[in-house]
Amino acid sequence: MDLNEPVKAILAYGDICDHCLGRFFGKRSRGLSNSGRGRALRTALALAENEPHVDFSGTCWVCGNFFDSVPAWADRVVEALEGIEFSTFLVGCRVPPLIAENEEMVWSDLSLADPEPFKSEVNREVGKAVSARIGKAADTKKPEVVVILDPIKSSVEVQIHSLFFYGRYQKFERGIPQTHWDCRACRGKGCEKCNFTGAQYLDSVEELIGRPVIEAFDAENAVLHGAGREDIDARMVGTGRPFILEVVAPKKRSIDLAALEAEINRTADGRVSVALKRWADRSEVETLKSNKAHKKYRILVEVDGGLSADEFAKALDSLKGVTIQQRTPERVAHRRADKVRERRVLDISLAGEQDGRFVVEVLGEAGLYIKELVSGDSGRTTPSLAEILKRKAHVTSLDVTQVEGAKEGE
Ligand SMILES: [Zn+2]
Ligand SMILES: [Zn+2]
Repeated sequence: MDLNEPVKAILAYGDICDHCLGRFFGKRSRGLSNSGRGRALRTALALAENEPHVDFSGTCWVCGNFFDSVPAWADRVVEALEGIEFSTFLVGCRVPPLIAENEEMVWSDLSLADPEPFKSEVNREVGKAVSARIGKAADTKKPEVVVILDPIKSSVEVQIHSLFFYGRYQKFERGIPQTHWDCRACRGKGCEKCNFTGAQYLDSVEELIGRPVIEAFDAENAVLHGAGREDIDARMVGTGRPFILEVVAPKKRSIDLAALEAEINRTADGRVSVALKRWADRSEVETLKSNKAHKKYRILVEVDGGLSADEFAKALDSLKGVTIQQRTPERVAHRRADKVRERRVLDISLAGEQDGRFVVEVLGEAGLYIKELVSGDSGRTTPSLAEILKRKAHVTSLDVTQVEGAKEGE
């Protein structure tokens, strides 16, 4: 293929640097930089035409001599990354629209088959220069930090990718929601009702775990992704509930999970406790959240009027293995679609008595509403314990004792 024709046509547009000239053929041949390619093409044309070879000087009409500033951009990237712990990085770039327009015009005018875009050369060249300065590798697949150059604003922006770890939590105190709730009255702005905290509940499991995490990682935030959630008034005991914690924009990454676990448990002071199992990945979050886990509960049931333990146990027996029809409970109807769901009671048994109430252990299919299984929810759940007993019955306290989790590893 004769490259002299297109090269001549490109040079006719105006002064162009070796980078931009070479980049118009950037996907041809290997082992060359675009500037090497550009210089060779210029030389080849001069030889073919038997004209004097002239090195490029002046101002490139495509990029405005952007590539002269690669070392300076690399210095700025290194400076922006100071104080951030990472092992892999990637440089990105917001291409000035005029530069994109210039090169796209030539691509289409001359129907060029193998050009490389400005963006890729900038990212690669600045990346190489940064790598040489700091001795760390650029990584296009899973970089820990990304630095975006913006030539128009003359700025660099650092994006630190989140870290994730997998664990289980227990919640020993009732009245703590799983995640932060904005105050209902002011929606988080702060008002008299919430004592200007903006929060409906002062603490959440997310915040009790998150505060020491944010400090340890010098992070912006910590977000809890739970495998389901318990009601605010329920405890989460037994083996705990699986969760993945997302550490947002951590400036430190080499944190020892065992030491972190100890610090979380110390600061949560017996209200919440965690067992941290291993590092995790963003891709695991969706799987964990959609995990349809069976759950085991330990509940206290109060029944109106006298009833012997035998009669009560008999009623429980008749619920064992039974499929329950549950219309969306009244208490959650405002946020869930109103429909009838079928869920099985896998196991249910009497575990004792306490202060005139029955202690019941239930193993329910994912999504079974336990409070309604007992009360009947004014006929919306059927069969129910209240329906079988022909008396009013309700749950006075509820603990989740087991939630199936993901593969936990070591
Ligand atoms: Zn140029
Ligand atoms: Zn408020």
